[in-house]
Amino acid sequence: MEPSLAVVDRFQRPLRNLRLSVTDRCNLRCAYCMPERDYLWLPRSDILDFEEASALVDVFVDLGVDRVRLTGGEPLVRRNLAELVRLLAAKPAIRDLAMTTNGLLLAEKAKELRSAGLGRVTVSLDTLKPERFEALARSRDHRLVLAGIEEAAGLGFSALKIDSVIIRGVNEDEMVPLLDYGRRVGAEVRFIEYMDVGGATRWSPEKVVARAEILGTLARRYGPIHPLAEPGPAPAERFRLVDGTVFGVIASTTAPFCRSCDRSRLTADGLWYLCLYAARGTDLRQPLRAGASQQELRSLIEATWKGRSDRGAEERLALRDRSPLVARPALQQDPHLEMHTRGG
Ligand code: SF4
Repeated sequence: MEPSLAVVDRFQRPLRNLRLSVTDRCNLRCAYCMPERDYLWLPRSDILDFEEASALVDVFVDLGVDRVRLTGGEPLVRRNLAELVRLLAAKPAIRDLAMTTNGLLLAEKAKELRSAGLGRVTVSLDTLKPERFEALARSRDHRLVLAGIEEAAGLGFSALKIDSVIIRGVNEDEMVPLLDYGRRVGAEVRFIEYMDVGGATRWSPEKVVARAEILGTLARRYGPIHPLAEPGPAPAERFRLVDGTVFGVIASTTAPFCRSCDRSRLTADGLWYLCLYAARGTDLRQPLRAGASQQELRSLIEATWKGRSDRGAEERLALRDRSPLVARPALQQDPHLEMHTRGG
Protein backbone atom coordinates (compact mmCIF):
# COMPACT_ATOMS: atom_id res chain seq x y z
CA MET A 1 0.00 0.00 0.00
CA GLU A 2 1.27 3.50 -0.85
CA PRO A 3 2.23 5.41 2.30
CA SER A 4 -0.27 8.15 1.41
CA LEU A 5 -3.12 5.61 1.41
CA ALA A 6 -2.28 4.03 4.76
CA VAL A 7 -4.70 4.68 7.60
CA VAL A 8 -3.08 7.00 10.14
CA ASP A 9 -3.78 7.82 13.78
CA ARG A 10 -4.13 11.24 15.41
CA PHE A 11 -0.36 11.78 15.22
CA GLN A 12 -0.19 10.72 11.56
CA ARG A 13 1.36 7.38 12.49
CA PRO A 14 0.43 4.66 9.97
CA LEU A 15 -0.84 1.20 10.88
CA ARG A 16 2.03 -0.89 9.57
CA ASN A 17 3.37 -3.31 12.09
CA LEU A 18 1.35 -6.04 13.81
CA ARG A 19 2.66 -8.11 16.68
CA LEU A 20 0.59 -11.26 16.68
CA SER A 21 0.70 -13.18 19.94
CA VAL A 22 -0.09 -16.85 19.44
CA THR A 23 -0.14 -17.90 23.09
CA ASP A 24 0.10 -16.39 26.56
CA ARG A 25 2.02 -19.45 27.79
CA CYS A 26 5.77 -19.53 28.21
CA ASN A 27 8.29 -22.21 29.09
CA LEU A 28 10.53 -19.75 30.97
CA ARG A 29 9.87 -17.48 33.95
CA CYS A 30 12.13 -14.48 33.33
CA ALA A 31 12.46 -12.07 36.22
CA TYR A 32 11.56 -9.02 34.09
CA CYS A 33 8.47 -10.53 32.49
CA MET A 34 6.95 -13.44 34.46
CA PRO A 35 8.49 -13.27 37.92
CA GLU A 36 5.58 -14.79 39.85
CA ARG A 37 4.88 -18.43 40.61
CA ASP A 38 1.25 -18.45 39.48
CA TYR A 39 -0.56 -16.81 36.62
CA LEU A 40 -4.10 -16.50 35.40
CA TRP A 41 -4.18 -17.91 31.86
CA LEU A 42 -6.46 -17.03 28.99
CA PRO A 43 -9.28 -19.57 28.60
CA ARG A 44 -8.34 -22.04 25.87
CA SER A 45 -11.68 -21.67 24.11
CA ASP A 46 -10.90 -17.97 23.61
CA ILE A 47 -7.62 -18.59 21.79
CA LEU A 48 -7.95 -17.84 18.08
CA ASP A 49 -7.36 -20.77 15.78
CA PHE A 50 -5.02 -20.22 12.84
CA GLU A 51 -7.82 -19.57 10.34
CA GLU A 52 -9.27 -16.91 12.65
CA ALA A 53 -5.88 -15.29 13.18
CA SER A 54 -5.21 -15.36 9.45
CA ALA A 55 -8.61 -13.81 8.70
CA LEU A 56 -7.89 -10.93 11.09
CA VAL A 57 -4.43 -10.45 9.60
CA ASP A 58 -6.10 -10.12 6.18
CA VAL A 59 -8.10 -7.17 7.49
CA PHE A 60 -4.98 -5.54 8.95
CA VAL A 61 -3.13 -6.08 5.69
CA ASP A 62 -5.98 -4.43 3.85
CA LEU A 63 -5.43 -1.37 6.05
CA GLY A 64 -1.71 -1.15 5.43
CA VAL A 65 0.02 -3.65 7.70
CA ASP A 66 3.01 -5.12 5.90
CA ARG A 67 5.08 -6.39 8.81
CA VAL A 68 3.92 -9.17 11.12
CA ARG A 69 5.86 -10.51 14.07
CA LEU A 70 4.79 -13.69 15.87
CA THR A 71 5.12 -13.38 19.62
CA GLY A 72 3.76 -14.89 22.81
CA GLY A 73 4.22 -15.85 25.59
CA GLU A 74 6.62 -18.10 23.79
CA PRO A 75 5.35 -18.64 20.25
CA LEU A 76 7.10 -22.00 19.84
CA VAL A 77 4.97 -23.60 22.56
CA ARG A 78 1.96 -23.15 20.25
CA ARG A 79 1.45 -26.48 18.52
CA ASN A 80 1.89 -26.61 14.73
CA LEU A 81 3.02 -23.00 14.52
CA ALA A 82 4.48 -23.68 11.06
CA GLU A 83 0.90 -23.97 9.75
CA LEU A 84 0.21 -20.39 10.74
CA VAL A 85 3.54 -19.30 9.27
CA ARG A 86 2.53 -20.94 5.99
CA LEU A 87 -0.82 -19.11 5.95
CA LEU A 88 0.85 -15.76 6.62
CA ALA A 89 3.77 -16.29 4.26
CA ALA A 90 1.26 -16.82 1.44
CA LYS A 91 0.04 -13.22 1.77
CA PRO A 92 2.14 -11.21 -0.69
CA ALA A 93 1.42 -7.89 1.03
CA ILE A 94 3.33 -9.03 4.13
CA ARG A 95 6.88 -8.10 3.21
CA ASP A 96 8.35 -8.95 6.60
CA LEU A 97 7.31 -12.02 8.58
CA ALA A 98 9.31 -12.40 11.78
CA MET A 99 9.20 -14.13 15.15
CA THR A 100 10.53 -13.35 18.61
CA THR A 101 11.34 -16.44 20.67
CA ASN A 102 13.17 -17.40 23.84
CA GLY A 103 14.98 -19.98 21.72
CA LEU A 104 14.35 -22.99 23.91
CA LEU A 105 12.55 -24.95 21.18
CA LEU A 106 14.20 -23.24 18.24
CA ALA A 107 16.78 -25.89 17.40
CA GLU A 108 14.06 -28.46 16.78
CA LYS A 109 11.63 -26.14 14.98
CA ALA A 110 13.74 -23.63 13.05
CA LYS A 111 14.07 -25.68 9.88
CA GLU A 112 10.34 -26.30 9.55
CA LEU A 113 9.58 -22.62 10.19
CA ARG A 114 12.13 -21.50 7.63
CA SER A 115 10.63 -23.86 5.05
CA ALA A 116 7.16 -22.57 5.90
CA GLY A 117 8.26 -19.05 4.99
CA LEU A 118 9.38 -17.38 8.19
CA GLY A 119 11.73 -14.55 7.21
CA ARG A 120 13.46 -13.31 10.33
CA VAL A 121 14.08 -14.55 13.85
CA THR A 122 14.88 -12.68 17.04
CA VAL A 123 16.02 -14.70 20.04
CA SER A 124 15.97 -13.34 23.59
CA LEU A 125 19.29 -14.04 25.29
CA ASP A 126 20.32 -12.07 28.37
CA THR A 127 23.29 -14.06 29.54
CA LEU A 128 25.95 -16.48 28.36
CA LYS A 129 26.26 -17.99 31.83
CA PRO A 130 24.13 -21.07 32.49
CA GLU A 131 23.94 -20.45 36.25
CA ARG A 132 22.86 -16.87 35.68
CA PHE A 133 20.28 -18.03 33.15
CA GLU A 134 18.91 -20.42 35.76
CA ALA A 135 18.60 -17.60 38.29
CA LEU A 136 17.10 -15.19 35.77
CA ALA A 137 14.73 -17.46 33.83
CA ARG A 138 14.33 -20.42 36.20
CA SER A 139 15.49 -22.96 33.65
CA ARG A 140 18.52 -25.18 33.29
CA ASP A 141 18.19 -25.34 29.52
CA HIS A 142 20.49 -22.48 28.61
CA ARG A 143 22.39 -24.72 26.19
CA LEU A 144 19.17 -25.24 24.21
CA VAL A 145 18.87 -21.49 23.62
CA LEU A 146 22.43 -21.33 22.29
CA ALA A 147 21.77 -24.42 20.17
CA GLY A 148 18.65 -22.74 18.77
CA ILE A 149 20.56 -19.60 17.83
CA GLU A 150 23.32 -21.60 16.21
CA GLU A 151 20.86 -23.78 14.30
CA ALA A 152 18.96 -20.74 13.03
CA ALA A 153 22.23 -19.09 11.98
CA GLY A 154 22.79 -21.80 9.40
CA LEU A 155 19.33 -21.75 7.84
CA GLY A 156 19.43 -18.59 5.76
CA PHE A 157 16.91 -16.42 7.59
CA SER A 158 17.09 -12.92 6.17
CA ALA A 159 18.07 -11.68 9.63
CA LEU A 160 18.92 -13.27 12.95
CA LYS A 161 18.93 -11.03 16.00
CA ILE A 162 19.63 -11.45 19.68
CA ASP A 163 17.67 -9.29 22.12
CA SER A 164 19.34 -8.74 25.49
CA VAL A 165 17.54 -6.90 28.28
CA ILE A 166 20.25 -5.28 30.38
CA ILE A 167 19.47 -5.04 34.10
CA ARG A 168 21.72 -3.47 36.69
CA GLY A 169 22.98 -5.97 39.20
CA VAL A 170 22.03 -8.84 36.90
CA ASN A 171 23.87 -8.79 33.57
CA GLU A 172 25.32 -5.37 32.85
CA ASP A 173 28.76 -7.01 32.89
CA GLU A 174 27.85 -9.15 29.85
CA MET A 175 27.36 -6.56 27.13
CA VAL A 176 30.79 -7.18 25.60
CA PRO A 177 30.58 -11.01 25.77
CA LEU A 178 27.06 -10.93 24.27
CA LEU A 179 28.20 -8.71 21.42
CA ASP A 180 31.20 -10.96 20.79
CA TYR A 181 28.94 -14.00 20.80
CA GLY A 182 26.54 -12.40 18.32
CA ARG A 183 29.42 -11.52 16.05
CA ARG A 184 30.71 -15.07 16.22
CA VAL A 185 27.40 -16.69 15.24
CA GLY A 186 26.33 -14.02 12.73
CA ALA A 187 23.52 -12.48 14.80
CA GLU A 188 22.94 -8.77 15.36
CA VAL A 189 22.70 -8.03 19.07
CA ARG A 190 20.25 -5.45 20.39
CA PHE A 191 20.57 -4.18 23.94
CA ILE A 192 17.21 -3.31 25.48
CA GLU A 193 16.59 -1.04 28.43
CA TYR A 194 14.61 -2.67 31.22
CA MET A 195 10.98 -1.59 30.97
CA ASP A 196 8.38 -1.03 33.68
CA VAL A 197 5.52 -2.51 31.74
CA GLY A 198 3.11 -5.39 32.41
CA GLY A 199 4.53 -8.18 34.53
CA ALA A 200 7.75 -6.32 35.41
CA THR A 201 6.62 -6.11 39.02
CA ARG A 202 10.21 -5.94 40.27
CA TRP A 203 11.19 -2.99 38.09
CA SER A 204 12.78 0.07 39.63
CA PRO A 205 14.51 3.03 37.97
CA GLU A 206 17.84 2.08 39.59
CA LYS A 207 17.87 -1.21 37.69
CA VAL A 208 17.67 0.48 34.28
CA VAL A 209 20.95 0.57 32.36
CA ALA A 210 20.39 3.50 30.04
CA ARG A 211 21.35 3.83 26.40
CA ALA A 212 24.19 6.24 27.23
CA GLU A 213 25.74 3.79 29.67
CA ILE A 214 25.41 0.92 27.20
CA LEU A 215 27.16 2.93 24.50
CA GLY A 216 29.82 4.09 26.94
CA THR A 217 30.63 0.55 28.01
CA LEU A 218 30.89 -0.66 24.42
CA ALA A 219 32.98 2.34 23.34
CA ARG A 220 35.49 1.66 26.12
CA ARG A 221 35.95 -1.85 24.80
CA TYR A 222 35.66 -1.39 21.04
CA GLY A 223 36.59 2.25 20.34
CA PRO A 224 34.52 4.77 18.40
CA ILE A 225 30.88 3.87 17.73
CA HIS A 226 29.18 5.29 14.66
CA PRO A 227 25.40 5.71 14.51
CA LEU A 228 23.78 4.44 11.31
CA ALA A 229 21.51 7.03 9.76
CA GLU A 230 18.29 5.06 9.36
CA PRO A 231 15.10 7.09 9.41
CA GLY A 232 11.92 5.16 10.15
CA PRO A 233 9.85 3.59 12.86
CA ALA A 234 12.18 0.76 13.93
CA PRO A 235 12.52 0.73 17.70
CA ALA A 236 16.25 -0.01 17.65
CA GLU A 237 18.84 2.63 16.93
CA ARG A 238 21.64 0.90 15.12
CA PHE A 239 25.36 1.51 15.44
CA ARG A 240 28.56 0.29 13.80
CA LEU A 241 31.86 -0.53 15.44
CA VAL A 242 35.15 0.23 13.71
CA ASP A 243 35.44 -3.41 12.60
CA GLY A 244 32.02 -3.21 10.89
CA THR A 245 29.99 -5.05 13.55
CA VAL A 246 26.47 -3.64 13.73
CA PHE A 247 24.41 -3.67 16.90
CA GLY A 248 21.29 -1.96 18.19
CA VAL A 249 20.03 -0.23 21.30
CA ILE A 250 16.35 -0.10 22.18
CA ALA A 251 16.01 2.78 24.61
CA SER A 252 12.32 2.23 25.34
CA THR A 253 12.64 3.58 28.87
CA THR A 254 14.92 6.62 28.66
CA ALA A 255 14.41 7.68 25.02
CA PRO A 256 11.07 6.32 23.84
CA PHE A 257 10.14 6.34 20.17
CA CYS A 258 6.37 6.72 20.43
CA ARG A 259 6.24 9.51 17.86
CA SER A 260 7.01 7.10 15.06
CA CYS A 261 5.31 4.04 16.53
CA ASP A 262 3.38 2.10 13.91
CA ARG A 263 3.00 -1.02 16.07
CA SER A 264 -0.07 -2.60 17.54
CA ARG A 265 -0.62 -5.90 19.24
CA LEU A 266 -3.16 -8.66 18.84
CA THR A 267 -3.38 -11.07 21.77
CA ALA A 268 -3.86 -14.79 21.27
CA ASP A 269 -7.53 -14.38 22.21
CA GLY A 270 -8.13 -11.59 19.72
CA LEU A 271 -7.89 -8.40 21.77
CA TRP A 272 -6.21 -5.61 19.88
CA TYR A 273 -3.98 -3.17 21.81
CA LEU A 274 -2.82 0.12 20.36
CA CYS A 275 0.10 0.45 22.76
CA LEU A 276 2.16 -1.78 25.03
CA TYR A 277 1.03 0.41 27.93
CA ALA A 278 -2.67 0.61 26.97
CA ALA A 279 -5.07 -0.30 29.75
CA ARG A 280 -7.70 -1.73 27.41
CA GLY A 281 -7.88 -3.40 24.02
CA THR A 282 -10.53 -3.73 21.35
CA ASP A 283 -12.19 -7.13 21.18
CA LEU A 284 -11.92 -8.45 17.63
CA ARG A 285 -12.67 -12.07 18.54
CA GLN A 286 -16.25 -11.42 19.48
CA PRO A 287 -17.29 -9.78 16.17
CA LEU A 288 -15.20 -12.26 14.19
CA ARG A 289 -16.91 -15.24 15.83
CA ALA A 290 -20.30 -13.54 15.51
CA GLY A 291 -19.82 -13.54 11.74
CA ALA A 292 -18.78 -9.93 11.07
CA SER A 293 -17.83 -9.37 7.46
CA GLN A 294 -14.32 -8.35 6.43
CA GLN A 295 -15.71 -4.88 5.69
CA GLU A 296 -17.26 -4.59 9.17
CA LEU A 297 -14.01 -5.62 10.82
CA ARG A 298 -12.14 -3.20 8.59
CA SER A 299 -14.39 -0.33 9.65
CA LEU A 300 -13.91 -1.18 13.34
CA ILE A 301 -10.13 -1.38 13.06
CA GLU A 302 -9.87 1.71 10.89
CA ALA A 303 -12.02 3.85 13.20
CA THR A 304 -10.11 2.63 16.26
CA TRP A 305 -6.70 3.37 14.73
CA LYS A 306 -7.81 6.81 13.57
CA GLY A 307 -8.65 7.67 17.19
CA ARG A 308 -5.29 6.45 18.53
CA SER A 309 -3.30 8.95 20.56
CA ASP A 310 -1.26 6.49 22.68
CA ARG A 311 2.28 7.45 23.65
CA GLY A 312 2.64 5.20 26.65
CA ALA A 313 6.41 5.19 27.10
CA GLU A 314 6.68 8.95 26.60
CA GLU A 315 4.01 9.55 29.22
CA ARG A 316 5.81 7.24 31.64
CA LEU A 317 9.03 9.14 31.04
CA ALA A 318 7.35 12.36 32.14
CA LEU A 319 6.44 10.89 35.55
CA ARG A 320 8.46 12.00 38.54
CA ASP A 321 8.10 8.94 40.74
CA ARG A 322 8.14 5.91 38.59
CA SER A 323 7.36 2.42 39.80
CA PRO A 324 6.04 -0.71 38.02
CA LEU A 325 3.11 0.18 35.76
CA VAL A 326 0.69 -2.40 37.14
CA ALA A 327 0.59 -3.68 40.70
CA ARG A 328 0.49 -7.42 41.25
CA PRO A 329 -3.15 -7.62 42.47
CA ALA A 330 -4.37 -5.97 39.26
CA LEU A 331 -2.31 -8.40 37.17
CA GLN A 332 -3.89 -11.29 39.04
CA GLN A 333 -7.33 -10.04 38.05
CA ASP A 334 -6.70 -9.47 34.36
CA PRO A 335 -4.17 -11.47 32.35
CA HIS A 336 -4.48 -8.97 29.49
CA LEU A 337 -2.43 -6.52 31.53
CA GLU A 338 0.56 -8.87 31.37
CA MET A 339 3.39 -8.28 28.92
CA HIS A 340 3.46 -12.00 28.17
CA THR A 341 -0.16 -11.77 26.99
CA ARG A 342 0.43 -8.72 24.82
CA GLY A 343 3.47 -10.06 23.08
CA GLY A 344 6.15 -7.97 24.79
S1 SF4 B 1 4.86 2.93 24.38
FE1 SF4 B 1 3.15 2.55 23.00
S2 SF4 B 1 3.17 4.22 21.51
FE2 SF4 B 1 5.16 4.23 22.57
S3 SF4 B 1 6.49 2.97 21.25
FE3 SF4 B 1 5.64 1.56 22.79
S4 SF4 B 1 3.77 0.72 21.84
FE4 SF4 B 1 4.37 2.52 20.64
